[in-house]
Amino acid sequence: METTDFYAIAAGGIVVSLILVRVLSYLSHLTTAVSVFVSKHLTYPYLIRRHRLLGPWTHFDVLCHLVYVAANVFCLCYPNLLASDAGRRAGVLSLVNMIFLFAGVHLSFVADLLGISLQRYRGSHRAVGWMVAGLAAVHAVAAVNSAAFTLSDSRNLFAIIGIASLGVLSLLFLPCFRQFAYEIFLRAHQVAACLCVYAVWRHLPLGATSCRLYLYIGTGTFLLTCSMQVLTFIYRNSVFTRRGHPRALVTYVGADSNDKSGAKPIKVSVALSRPLRVHPGQYISLRMSAVGWWSWTQSHPFMVTSWSQGEQSTLELFVQPRRGLTADLLRHAHAGSGVSFSFPAFISGPHGVTAPVAQYETVVLMASGFGVAAVIPYLKQLIHGYNARSSRTRRVHLVWQLRTPDLAVAVQPWLNGLLKDDVLDNGYILAISIYLESGDMPTDRMPFGKHERAVICRGLADIPKIVQTEIDGGYIERLPDVQEERGEVLVMASLSNELRDRLRDTVRNHLRDRVRMTELEFQPGYNEN
Ligand SMILES: Cc1cc2nc3c(=O)[nH]c(=O)nc-3n(C[C@H](O)[C@H](O)[C@H](O)COP(=O)(O)OP(=O)(O)OC[C@H]3O[C@@H](n4cnc5c(N)ncnc54)[C@H](O)[C@@H]3O)c2cc1C
Repeated sequence: METTDFYAIAAGGIVVSLILVRVLSYLSHLTTAVSVFVSKHLTYPYLIRRHRLLGPWTHFDVLCHLVYVAANVFCLCYPNLLASDAGRRAGVLSLVNMIFLFAGVHLSFVADLLGISLQRYRGSHRAVGWMVAGLAAVHAVAAVNSAAFTLSDSRNLFAIIGIASLGVLSLLFLPCFRQFAYEIFLRAHQVAACLCVYAVWRHLPLGATSCRLYLYIGTGTFLLTCSMQVLTFIYRNSVFTRRGHPRALVTYVGADSNDKSGAKPIKVSVALSRPLRVHPGQYISLRMSAVGWWSWTQSHPFMVTSWSQGEQSTLELFVQPRRGLTADLLRHAHAGSGVSFSFPAFISGPHGVTAPVAQYETVVLMASGFGVAAVIPYLKQLIHGYNARSSRTRRVHLVWQLRTPDLAVAVQPWLNGLLKDDVLDNGYILAISIYLESGDMPTDRMPFGKHERAVICRGLADIPKIVQTEIDGGYIERLPDVQEERGEVLVMASLSNELRDRLRDTVRNHLRDRVRMTELEFQPGYNEN
């Protein structure tokens, strides 16, 4: 090549690069516009609101479900719609879908493998479950209508057992079973699922090689994830080593243990046998064998409220006593009247996804009741990031809705610790607003503690007003005479259903103001506080 060719290539390259940079910057603007459009019309608004048995479903959820149904209906009908063919295909499709349901015994573990939240994975698991049941029903109707169906054939008997177990599984999907007795629901669900697989295996004809292959793939996947989970569990809890198991120290941290209306919070400190790195927003599943007579069969998820940039050797949990194992914990803690109790414990995890927060200028964390457990580690991380100058965040606002003041008193040491850490350059980024629905207050608004940075207000939090104030950015100090672009606002929620829906509507109206919302892994059943 001659020098002139090099010159032509270099000059052409520069021009093309400039055009590319221009196109890319245009595309990045377009991406933001598309993301706002998609959020406003698809992922934020509900098409089906919250009902007792169903919902809430956003437009996006409904679209995904429709696409999923359409794909299955297409496979069912293509290339012809003969009843016998469609019936056979429905059976095969049901089996293929079933593989997803047997991806693992512990939903949190599989959700982690897929990198999605537990809530999203549960939703998918439920949708696939309904699809399997629907397709199996089509298969059964087609088979019964065919002349060949007789009960003297053992394969048909197993078909009936399979369909019956699917029926039981569908019934168990109803929330009332889960809420009434979670452990019974879980074990019944697992037994019915195993029975269903066994029945399908016995139902399949010997020549159905591809169907048997699907069954083996499902079983193989299940065994693989189970083994991975068991090995992780053994390692995490040092089961066959001399290090000793983790131990859980249970302490009652409520104000007055005889107060019937109080929330009776418990703090659990889990001393680990191996240090563990836990990201904000992650949770562990805790198993405590000596708490009740069948507590060894149960494992319960709890958010890790402690946070450190490195590994932790003790994890802190903040627990609301309910009716089962958590009520037993409360009984033990009460029995000691102020004394902590220690139990052998096993953990799995940490599970769950963590939301990136460092790029937001303002982060508003909204919690109700025990939902504060999910936001405390984010507060710690944000303040650490500000002190270490490793994040862009310049304002953090905790908004906490409470029924009674006793929870605030229990959490006060944690909050004071946060306020103490937040003192870089004699400034501060953390503000705390606690909204109290009931309780004696001399004024509508008063300081909580000895400083102005935490206030306690009477009534319900005015969500639209709070979000608007943060968008205005009045609390962020800016250099005078310097035109500075306002940064993005992130609103994180661990709220009761009603407040969360209200927040979602508010954020949806402000998407163009660069406000985003993220729902954390734990959303408290606020009405049951
Ligand atoms: C990801 C996640 C994080 C959580 N973090 C916290 C936390 O930090 N602090 C806190 O107080 N609570 C938290 N919870 C809720 C907590 O797990 C339940 O309150 C606890 O398991 C109830 O135990 P119990 O035996 O006393 O329940 P029960 O009185 O038998 O049931 C009360 C309610 O808890 C549900 N529940 C029971 N067992 C389980 C289980 N193993 N898994 C899921 N739900 C169950 C039931 O469906 C029912 O609605 C979290 C839940 C999830 C899903």
